[in-house]
Amino acid sequence: MLVQVITLFGEMFSAITEYGVTGRAAKNGLWQLETINPRQFADNRLGYIDDRPFGGGAGMVMQAPPIQAALNVAFEKSGTKKAIYLSPQGVPLTHEKTLELSKQNHLILLCGRYEGIDERILQANDIEEIAIGDFVVSGGELPAMMLIDAVLRHRSQVLGDEQSAQQDSFCSGLLDYPHYTRPVEFNGQKVPDVLLTGNHQEIAKWRHTQSLLRTKARRPDLWAWYSLTPQEVQLLSEDKSNE
Ligand code: SAM
Repeated sequence: MLVQVITLFGEMFSAITEYGVTGRAAKNGLWQLETINPRQFADNRLGYIDDRPFGGGAGMVMQAPPIQAALNVAFEKSGTKKAIYLSPQGVPLTHEKTLELSKQNHLILLCGRYEGIDERILQANDIEEIAIGDFVVSGGELPAMMLIDAVLRHRSQVLGDEQSAQQDSFCSGLLDYPHYTRPVEFNGQKVPDVLLTGNHQEIAKWRHTQSLLRTKARRPDLWAWYSLTPQEVQLLSEDKSNE
């Protein structure tokens, strides 16, 4: 997968090209990052690509010409004309969206800074706006990295254990079950007995029940959409805990 990112701060992306799961995937050639700095298309020697907003007011705005030039470079190389603008005004990023994006072989991401980019870029191009939440951060780089990481987790061979993506929260519409590791006892709290039995069927049942209970308790919005199978109704009716 080729990911092209239009950004003033390409160095920030070493966080995902050099570390952890995404870093290993990059080293294994499973994805490739290309950053395009719109400063190279500035119309001045100092490389400024922002200017004061028409109509006055606080902050600066990223100018349309250098952003369009950067987009055109990305469009030409990738052969697509679609891009994503990380924006607090976009549709919220969801598990489903990351899954959909993971099926593509190219992604073009546009990172804003200052007050954002000139609106005409969004009107003139096929750009989808995506938000990472109902809050504002200072630039599109961290949101872009979150999107890339979440998308890559769905790509084949990126995770060491193929099953672990399927067990993650949201994959089946439920939250993940709680995890424990050694020691068996910590601060007087013991690992649930069932996890020590070695009985794989009972462990799977317990985990599934925990996923159901957690989702019900923590995410009523997900729970409202979830259709319980007869087996799950049975699991819940057998459960003795109060979570
Ligand atoms: N003035 C803009 C507004 O209120 O909608 C916020 C601009 S923000 C300071 C600068 C850049 O950070 C944005 O252009 C966008 O690329 C990025 N950004 C900020 N919050 C974001 C969010 N929640 N999701 C995705 N991108 C975000």
